[in-house]
Amino acid sequence: MKTPQEYIESLRKLKLVVYMFGKKVENVVDDPIIRPSLNAVAMTYSLAQNPKYEDIMTAKSHLTGKKINRFTHIHQSVDDLVKKSKMGRLVGSLTGCCFQRCVGMDTLNALSITTYDIDVKHGTGYHKRFLKYLEYVQENDLVCDGAMTDPKGDRSLPPHKQADPDMFLRVVEEKKDGIVVRGAKAHQTGAVNSHEVIVMPTITMREEDRDYAISFALPSDTTGITYIMGRQSCDTRKLEKGKIDQGNISFGGHEALIVFDDVFVPWDRVFMYKEYDFSGQLVEQFASYHRQSYACKVGVGDVLIGAVQTVAEYNGIEKASHVKDKIIEMNQLNETLYCGCIACASEGHREPSGTYYVNSLLANVHKQNVTRFPYEIARLAQDVAGGLVATCPSEDDLKSSEVGKWVKKYFQGTSSVPAENRIRILRLIENLTLGTAAVGYLTESLHGAGSPQAQRIMISRLVNMKDKQKTAKKLAGVPVPDDEKEK
Ligand code: SF4
Ligand code: FE
Repeated sequence: MKTPQEYIESLRKLKLVVYMFGKKVENVVDDPIIRPSLNAVAMTYSLAQNPKYEDIMTAKSHLTGKKINRFTHIHQSVDDLVKKSKMGRLVGSLTGCCFQRCVGMDTLNALSITTYDIDVKHGTGYHKRFLKYLEYVQENDLVCDGAMTDPKGDRSLPPHKQADPDMFLRVVEEKKDGIVVRGAKAHQTGAVNSHEVIVMPTITMREEDRDYAISFALPSDTTGITYIMGRQSCDTRKLEKGKIDQGNISFGGHEALIVFDDVFVPWDRVFMYKEYDFSGQLVEQFASYHRQSYACKVGVGDVLIGAVQTVAEYNGIEKASHVKDKIIEMNQLNETLYCGCIACASEGHREPSGTYYVNSLLANVHKQNVTRFPYEIARLAQDVAGGLVATCPSEDDLKSSEVGKWVKKYFQGTSSVPAENRIRILRLIENLTLGTAAVGYLTESLHGAGSPQAQRIMISRLVNMKDKQKTAKKLAGVPVPDDEKEK
């Protein structure tokens, strides 16, 4: 396993082509806007080195028997799935942001199932190829960016009917030694902190879309790949000399658009090639695993609740019954989310490939709750924290030789706590509910791992409605037609 320092040094060796604010980023690792997101990924390496977290953060490779970082592990039991949920909460609670490494873990696990199933049906050799690649990832303790979301153009049209055929990523040329791909993947979490990018299709496809039904892995700095960084609310505060106005002084997340401009992929890194009949399965399995991964938001919720309790004490309102009640409500919502990610793991099962897969219905229900509860938790946080969350003067004013004394005097809460501490906590709440981390805690909760409607479709498909009706009719004495009777 890599140390955090080795991880950072390994990123320095990559020759990524990254653009931000219209300019090429020459030093990605030390860029002040990107660095906090790298620090959050590095936490997945440092926690794995810590004996206190060994059980949660590491696992035994089913390929080599060696101890590996759990983020590169293929789940071998229900216990592995439960530990994955606990790991998400743990890392979220220590970084207060999206730590980005789960997408790769979820992609590897989904591919471990789907490559096996494709081989069984079509007699192909993807699974062996995939396992060789997996061993490379485990041995080198790599970060993989799982890239699913295509730009999609006109949402009413399938890939092959788009006015611009590149709106979904596709193969444009087949060669003896590999394929050439073109297209883009949007909203890619942790893209420029990754060693590898693994591409999957984004929707269920039909035969006419077979050129789009592809999955493959590439080193993140392969020629022809360009990253264009997404902006986040308040991002340029990271360029300021002071740290207080950032809220979270060390950690953050990032997303990027990844463009594949006629990129060559050798055959040994291709895991699905035109088997359109398996695109839906791969999407569904990745999505279910990633919906489970939203255990991370429980950890981020822990940070927000801790900040709110602290600011309540700094304001001298922590004993007011309505404040206590609001904080109970925040905890109840947050722990309900925890129930969901533990439940879908506990109800997991073994797939023919040997990989353990979450209960898909419960994973979708969990993620549906994640699209709502963090918004309510954030609302309550702002309610208890007060308007100063959005109107507080800057760190420069706090430290100004002219007006600093007024900021300190008039933003003093309870007399035992310096105004600066109160401002720091308020900035953290601002960061989580309005600033850079709100991308992860709110918008990503809504749209990450699929927008709310995607989960509702899955829920309607996965519930056993017939069974429920049968019992209801039986209990009410409604006559059951012969074809509905138990055989
Ligand atoms: Fe992991 Fe959560 Fe970030 Fe997704 S949003 S990559 S699950 S930390
Ligand atoms: Fe996400």
